[in-house]
Amino acid sequence: MAGARPRRGVDQHLQRRGLPRTRHAAGRSSERALEGGGVPIGQAIGVCGRRGSLAVSRSIAGGRHRRSGRGGECSHRPYCRARCHDSRGGAWHLRWRGTRTGSSLRPDHRGDDAKFGFPEVLVGLHPGLGGTARLSHRIQPLEAMKLMLTGKTVTAGKASALGIVDAVVAERNIGRAIDEAASRRMERHGAGRIGDALNLLPARKAAARQMRSETEKRAPARHYPAPQSLIDLWEKHGGSQPDMLRAERASFARLLPMPITQNLIRNFFLRETLKGNGKGGSGIERVHIVGAGNMGAQIGAWCAFKGMHVTIEDPEPQSLGRAVAGMHRLADRKLHDPEALRAKDRFIPDPHGDGLRQADLVIEAAPENVSLKGAIYARLESEARRDAIIATNTSSLDIAELTSGLARPGRFVGIHFFNPVSRLDLIEVVCHDGVDETTHTRALRFVADIGKLPLPVKAAPGFLVNRALMPYLGEALLMIDEREQPERIDAAAEAFGMPVGPVELADQVGLDICLAVAESLAENLDRPMPRIPEWLRAKVANGEFGRKTGQGLYAYDADGKPKKDKLRHDPDEAMQDRLILPMVDAVAAALEEGVVADADSADAAMIFGTGFAPFRGGPMHYAQERGRGNVLATLDKLAAVHGARFEPSRWWRQKAEA
Ligand code: NAD
Repeated sequence: MAGARPRRGVDQHLQRRGLPRTRHAAGRSSERALEGGGVPIGQAIGVCGRRGSLAVSRSIAGGRHRRSGRGGECSHRPYCRARCHDSRGGAWHLRWRGTRTGSSLRPDHRGDDAKFGFPEVLVGLHPGLGGTARLSHRIQPLEAMKLMLTGKTVTAGKASALGIVDAVVAERNIGRAIDEAASRRMERHGAGRIGDALNLLPARKAAARQMRSETEKRAPARHYPAPQSLIDLWEKHGGSQPDMLRAERASFARLLPMPITQNLIRNFFLRETLKGNGKGGSGIERVHIVGAGNMGAQIGAWCAFKGMHVTIEDPEPQSLGRAVAGMHRLADRKLHDPEALRAKDRFIPDPHGDGLRQADLVIEAAPENVSLKGAIYARLESEARRDAIIATNTSSLDIAELTSGLARPGRFVGIHFFNPVSRLDLIEVVCHDGVDETTHTRALRFVADIGKLPLPVKAAPGFLVNRALMPYLGEALLMIDEREQPERIDAAAEAFGMPVGPVELADQVGLDICLAVAESLAENLDRPMPRIPEWLRAKVANGEFGRKTGQGLYAYDADGKPKKDKLRHDPDEAMQDRLILPMVDAVAAALEEGVVADADSADAAMIFGTGFAPFRGGPMHYAQERGRGNVLATLDKLAAVHGARFEPSRWWRQKAEA
């Protein structure tokens, strides 16, 4: 483990100087680790850098450590810690205790992957252990608020520049840094002149107004109250650290029991459950991609970014050129040199497919055409290593049909990425009747290896996510057919909490892909799907595929943004039901057919694969909170008005009877 060696060094330094230390074992909360080490909080502490768990935040919110001092502050004894890894959330609050007199000793040991941040906002909270007050008085308050409002993490270098940590030092210099910190010679940043100005209420009011309007665009207050509560807190109490510490606790305690917060916390654990599907390494290091189009290029780039050696082939040199450019953009956006350079070097355009013979895993991302894919598999089977896994990224083709021509279907599996690959964390790992257990397990582990969330699904039309998404997109197309304003349809879904409306989403996915998936589902599912309007086929035939061609259901500007008209009327709830409930019902049908193992996994898949209103906790959780009886009755009513496609699946009645 990367953190082990430096930690021992730090401990030795601390011991030699007579400073106490604690250990933080993985799986124990930081809180218990500090106590367990027999060290009163506020005294010198050397800690390994494993991240504080969510449980820490929550147990601390109960106030177990509020022993002494004004405003919840503890001892004023020197406090020293050395970080090796991530530092986020509750553990950080603990670390800041005892720093009120400015005697904080925090030489920061640099691990390349060390990250600092306050992710509480992502689970519907803000820091609740004094972090809001301490951070906004320790560093420039606008920077502090930005960190807490976005939940974003910063690197060790940035943390040092902001003043979050006092120093970032190379491992060999840690002893000297501890001496400097212990003798209080280490320079402190402070909140600066802007911080002084923002001690005045009128200045804070002006800044808070600006923060509110920016935050509202990303996280509307009606769906996500935590950021606005944090802004209120700082606006009212930012001038006084003790007042802010007190008010923070009240605000945190108000947010914690809210259903929205509980749903977001549940999402955190759902994510962990999905991660658990891919535990253990896959041993896959070399990936060969067949097809460098929209998806193949993104998949290859992501794999290289995550440390795999990637070769990518395509008969079209332009596709390979675009793929390389895309890889460079990703590396430059996400990595600093020399790591960006190394990632780019791992991505090799391979027009003749030479990398195929070395690959541990081959991912086919060629056009959605059975005979074309069949011809590709024949070549892959004869040229790839015998122990290599062959995977398809197909969205809509029948896996049984794809495997029918294979000599060894046991090593074939579906690994279904979502678009855009860098933003959507879910990947469906599609299991079919003939797949070997090892192939399936390694595929799940590979997904975890590249930092994504593996969801095992059964081979079935549309798997889980597309099957659920298509009725939603299809209904939106029918509404357009009925002369509904596209902007109003999108607004209805966004008011429900979807990140983008279905019209814009269809353009993002590509109308050509939507049409192929819709046709495939209409043909292969034994349930009626929304009728496909003729004008959609005409658009696709005309090359109007959506954002990628600059014209689809919307027209697009040079930055790829849709040109939308003003709303003629506000959307209503009936529109929401018509769009959302078919998606909820499709998930229920997939559960009934065993496409996905359980309702929690289905919720997680829809949140992390489609962005389904995260604060609602996923479609099945939403149905439960709304009342399954109500969902059933509403679907029945919609069926009476709009036809059989709204007839509820059997799952609802089975559950009601169970
Ligand atoms: P695309 O048309 O953008 O890319 C396909 C690429 O394959 C093209 O560059 C083409 O030149 C290349 N190609 C054609 N014949 C080939 C051959 N014989 N060998 C190697 N390469 C060949 O398509 P896409 O959107 O990237 O979709 C690829 C696959 O991914 C499809 O199966 C699709 O269902 C699936 N998928 C697409 C999306 C999406 O949002 N676009 C999402 C998930 C899965």
